[in-house]
Amino acid sequence: MPLIDTIKEAERLMTICNACRYCEGFCAVFPAMERRKTFGEGDLTYLANLCHGCQGCYYACQYAPPHEFKVNVPQTFATLRAESYADFAWPGFLGSLFRKNGVVVSLGMALGLGLLLLLLFGMQDLSIIFGSHTGEGAFYRVIPYAAMVWPFGLVFAFALFSMIMGGVIYWRSTAAKSGVRLSVGAILGGVRDVLTLKNLGGAGGGCNYPDESFSGKRRLFHHFTFYGFMLCFAATSFATIYDHWFGWIAPYSFTSLPVLLGTVGGIGLLVGPVGLMKLKLDADPAPRDRDLMGMDVAFLMLLFLVSFTGLALMLLRETSAMGTLLAVHLGFVLALFATLPYGKMVHGVYRFLALVQDAAERKVE
Ligand code: SF4
Ligand code: SF4
Repeated sequence: MPLIDTIKEAERLMTICNACRYCEGFCAVFPAMERRKTFGEGDLTYLANLCHGCQGCYYACQYAPPHEFKVNVPQTFATLRAESYADFAWPGFLGSLFRKNGVVVSLGMALGLGLLLLLLFGMQDLSIIFGSHTGEGAFYRVIPYAAMVWPFGLVFAFALFSMIMGGVIYWRSTAAKSGVRLSVGAILGGVRDVLTLKNLGGAGGGCNYPDESFSGKRRLFHHFTFYGFMLCFAATSFATIYDHWFGWIAPYSFTSLPVLLGTVGGIGLLVGPVGLMKLKLDADPAPRDRDLMGMDVAFLMLLFLVSFTGLALMLLRETSAMGTLLAVHLGFVLALFATLPYGKMVHGVYRFLALVQDAAERKVE
């Protein structure tokens, strides 16, 4: 359950905002707020996850600090969102991972797993590890197929299941409590909002991020990150189809679909996280929850490292560096998979569900 103080503060702010309503055209949060007269915990959690932290309402607010009302919606909603991530984590006892320093957890895990894979190399002949391998099955000559597929498959399946369970718990605690019904139209509305990141566009000028001036940079870098991730996922999916259905064994040629998709996606995952990280470091601290910086930065760094080592592996796969690069890349990938349900990635699940709820509520109006 989110901390009572955060809930109370969010309720206080929404009560003030619902009387004021100056920001009603700013984003989806304020119209959703206006559909309510009172704010239960589920309502506030939904509104917090619908908020994308554009900071517009903070800079526009006549009641923001130093005013005695101290209205700071983006900061309070950011804290509430983070508390809801821990609250909806599955299994529940792992929710405490959200509260730990994100950089230390993710990098420690990445280094540990990378080390683990390097230890695996201890079982492999050095001449194989540092030899040059070309042609079909080159990767599997260094790390056996089963050692690569099973741990990754199991960790990814667990992460996926865990995030689905988190989504179900979230929906039951928010939308279902408000009597919202899922419909195809609402789901499509949510998907459209995610694919276009409409809400990061503000009223056309973008977010008030990293400072008071309007900027489309956050939306742009978020697009790079999102589509980069999706293209890399598509590349892995095609590689799996090639392997299992057609019996075409990796590595694939530079002009093959998995490599082309992975390359474009990988570049997106370099540009996007670096851009978002720069904006985060430059951002005005007043409307933000600085305690969440670790989790955000850890996720962006992990995405960057997965992409960087993946691209390096692709370029140097026929050299003697391939064995080491393969282990390090897989270490980062495994760290990413393992931390997906307990890090920043979950914001995608809950924000999508909040957007679906918003679309459903607007339809009923
Ligand atoms: S954030 Fe401030 S200006 Fe905007 S609706 Fe709330 S109280 Fe009014
Ligand atoms: S920070 Fe932006 S998205 Fe969040 S409530 Fe304020 S205006 Fe809406």
